[in-house]
Amino acid sequence: MQESLRSLPKIDKILENKEFENLNKNLVKKIAQKTLQNLRNQILENKITQTPNTNDILQEIKKHYNHIVSPSIKPLINATGVVLQTNFGRSIFNEEMLDKIKPLLTNYNNLEYDITEGKRGERYQHLTDIICALFDCEDALIVNNNAAAVMLIINTFSKNKEVILSRGELVEIGGSFRIPEVITQSGGILREVGSTNKTHLKDYQNAINENTTMIMKVHQSNFAQIGFVQSVDYQDLSHLAKTNNLIDYYDVGSGYIDDINCDEPSLLEIAKTKPSLVSFSGDKLLGGPQAGIIFGKKDLIQSLKQNHLLRAIRIDKINLILLQEIFLAYLLGNQSQIPTIKMLNQPFEELLHKAQELQNILEKYSSLRTKIITTESKAGGGSLPHLDFPSYAIQIKHNKLHTQDLHLLLRKNGIVARAFQDTILLDVRCIDIKHFKQIGIIFESLEE
Ligand SMILES: *Cc1c(COP(=O)(O)O)cnc(C)c1O
Repeated sequence: MQESLRSLPKIDKILENKEFENLNKNLVKKIAQKTLQNLRNQILENKITQTPNTNDILQEIKKHYNHIVSPSIKPLINATGVVLQTNFGRSIFNEEMLDKIKPLLTNYNNLEYDITEGKRGERYQHLTDIICALFDCEDALIVNNNAAAVMLIINTFSKNKEVILSRGELVEIGGSFRIPEVITQSGGILREVGSTNKTHLKDYQNAINENTTMIMKVHQSNFAQIGFVQSVDYQDLSHLAKTNNLIDYYDVGSGYIDDINCDEPSLLEIAKTKPSLVSFSGDKLLGGPQAGIIFGKKDLIQSLKQNHLLRAIRIDKINLILLQEIFLAYLLGNQSQIPTIKMLNQPFEELLHKAQELQNILEKYSSLRTKIITTESKAGGGSLPHLDFPSYAIQIKHNKLHTQDLHLLLRKNGIVARAFQDTILLDVRCIDIKHFKQIGIIFESLEE
């Protein structure tokens, strides 16, 4: 045992080794110490009888070093046809927009500075005018994400007070964000009304009492109901709340402005009913950065700003600046440049053209059998679950590789595809033409 311990290389010798010449010495030292300690322990516990040779130890240290220093977040090509996926970072941005905001991030800026007065300003102010012009509302506030917006609103107005909500809207969003638990955790008392499938206006009416502060509506987001289903329109809830001096609040979740062809009311339509408060996500159908956007009545927004919780959930400057660009795009009618909107609204002929172009590249490879097929893409991100967006995909079969192995191999090369029966599908909706060459190179490497 003593012999084995003595035969371990010394730390100084390791650091001097040519293998580590251009690497950060501090980090190499930390990893080497840990590696040697592990080996010592294993020897002492008789788990290994023979010390690995020095070269193996060096390689182990180097492998560990490379693992730590290579960025773990990598770009992916999304060939699943699902436009918004929390797993893939939800919305993506166009390069011109990022170029435009670069000076704001590589320089100081007036994030919380009033230039005229020369004193502290407010970060939310930069977006208020834009959002109010877009929705024709009184005031607005931006927080970290929509989950935080829900918590802030409940905590501000309904601490130990009742919030009326339909049993058909007790939603669980991905990642175990459950509306009932969130209301409770924010200090509110949930007053459920109606049934899973049907809730009537009189259910809300009957539930109102002296401890009620709010009538809430939550968008069902990631599920849809069919059959005997009934819910109350937001307009009617808003009216009921106002006649009873209550707050009406609509958590729209994945709201869209007005640019997606679907049977749900857009945010612009909801805004027309003059709601007390509305909140929605920045990085779902809106196509922006992670954020929670709140708009509505000025006095209510002012109360939200007084809540100390706001400091803990405030939006950071990068997201705020990105969001400013996104809202400006909508306000000025340039929303077709927002990638999420562009991908969702891509014309069928354009998708076919893209599919043909990709197939032209892939059919050159003799190990592949390819075919263009029609598919259904999805909006994803807990939005529009009942809606299919017709699209095209390249269906691929490799003459040697099993579908599962090909699927994994593509993932390891940065392409997430769909496996369908015994084939791989590359839905072209979310693939940018600029990535076709890269996809070709990966398949070329599978040739024999
Ligand atoms: C997605 C969603 C949320 C959470 O929004 P994040 O921006 O992901 O925090 C809350 N409520 C509803 C209805 C949603 O769809």
